[in-house]
Amino acid sequence: MKTITALIAGETITTGEAPIAVIDPASDTLIAELPEADGATVDRAVAAARRAFEDGAWRLASVEQRQAVLRRAADLIDAAADELADIECANTGVPLSQIRGRSVPRAADNFRFFADYIGQATGRLYEQHPDYLTMVRREPVGVAALISPWNSPIALGSMKIASAIAFGNSCVIKPSEQAPLGITQLTALLGDAGLPDGVVNLVNGRGATTGDRLVRHPDVDLVSFTGGTPTGRVIMRTAGELLKPASVELGGKSANIIFDDADFERAVDGALLGIFTNNGQQCLAGSRILVQRGIADRFVEAFVERARRIRVGDPRDPATEIGPLVSRRHMEHVLGFVPAGETGLSVLTGGRAAPGLEQGCYVEPTLVRAERQDLRVCQEEIFGPFATLSVFDTEEEAWQMANATRFGLVAYVWSESVQRIMTAQERLAAGTVWCNTPMMRELRAPFGGWKESGIGSDGGLECEAFFTHAKTVSIPRRPLPLRKLGA
Ligand code: NAD
Repeated sequence: MKTITALIAGETITTGEAPIAVIDPASDTLIAELPEADGATVDRAVAAARRAFEDGAWRLASVEQRQAVLRRAADLIDAAADELADIECANTGVPLSQIRGRSVPRAADNFRFFADYIGQATGRLYEQHPDYLTMVRREPVGVAALISPWNSPIALGSMKIASAIAFGNSCVIKPSEQAPLGITQLTALLGDAGLPDGVVNLVNGRGATTGDRLVRHPDVDLVSFTGGTPTGRVIMRTAGELLKPASVELGGKSANIIFDDADFERAVDGALLGIFTNNGQQCLAGSRILVQRGIADRFVEAFVERARRIRVGDPRDPATEIGPLVSRRHMEHVLGFVPAGETGLSVLTGGRAAPGLEQGCYVEPTLVRAERQDLRVCQEEIFGPFATLSVFDTEEEAWQMANATRFGLVAYVWSESVQRIMTAQERLAAGTVWCNTPMMRELRAPFGGWKESGIGSDGGLECEAFFTHAKTVSIPRRPLPLRKLGA
């Protein structure tokens, strides 16, 4: 594995300070050491992005030219899909089948989606005033700092790069120091797509050093961040002080509500997928399962039986359904939520390191019964294969329990009653409500959190609004009489 510190204007930089240990969590062994990009390297990356922006080769390129480059980027990702998936798997522990089947195709789709989107983008024209044409144009903002998390680096990092550059911006991405390898490799590939040097740059390093330097850099115009809520607050504070627009997509603690009239089999399948996909390390995980009393015992029995049969193991094995968590530290964080005799909590299944897999960071699929939503296990983001299960009686109780959280990223609801689904989508306080389905990502629609799950969203229109600024231009239709001062 190459030790890439930064990619700046097409140049690969491999020197730096304070190396970051990159671990394969399947074996808990070191697979790379990336020297951290120091302040001077961040400054160089931002300067390269600024030069590329001012020079205009990308910003002023025709839409057709930008579309062609974005589509070539997608093709390059497709062509390197196996290699990218291998690296991402080695660095995150997410099953290779999920990365190869979902994350890498999604990365290519992100570039194709924005290529298509910019081909349909329109401005606005106001002609209501008889003497004037007033138009609203959108222009790229400048240099974007893109800061991404470790849980799905290729899919999420590529969304940021594709949306930033599609509208003509330049960018510097700083991937998570825990899982930088896949997105670093993807960024390196983009050089062959025909992007002018300096449009996409990358710096590797820790959040508090490299990340903070990037956010604060005076030549960075806007910040797009995905990560934890505590970091989101720090980013918003810094961006606020410096008056930079910031979009922050943060954590979740999403309810998955299952009514007694749900299609039972599908609801069980959906609940398992909702919490155990991506090793449970998903912002959008359905981590609080709420079941109506009439089917609760049957649901627990079915869910637990299936959870116990889930194949936990080597993420490279095509049969594996849950791989290791990203690090030993994260594994300890997740296991720290296993109740040890507290009132109102009992372990229904799991709750241990997976037996026989001690060399890696493996946790058994876990379900904990929680009597109340105000318990810590129902309030904090655990970010692992760990769900709580609580029982409700009435619809009203379901909405109250679902909304009893400081987060508001997504909510899931399962019912065959149209009326209930209609009420659910109105009553649930979340940026996305999935009805009778596990995750379904429509890139045209916004994906963003309410409450402490974030400010700002991804999505076609939303990314356009964030990565461009509006310019209002008024032009008189004919020379109009002007008041003559001092005449
Ligand atoms: P994190 O907040 O620890 O780190 C995210 C990124 O921010 C990393 O690149 C990190 O280096 C950087 N960073 C940390 N401190 C910084 C600082 N002071 N200045 C600048 N950058 C800084 O998050 P994580 O542990 O990598 O990711 C998991 C979290 O991300 C979870 O809370 C999850 O819910 C959230 N997430 C949200 C979404 C969403 O779309 N809402 C998607 C995926 C993950």
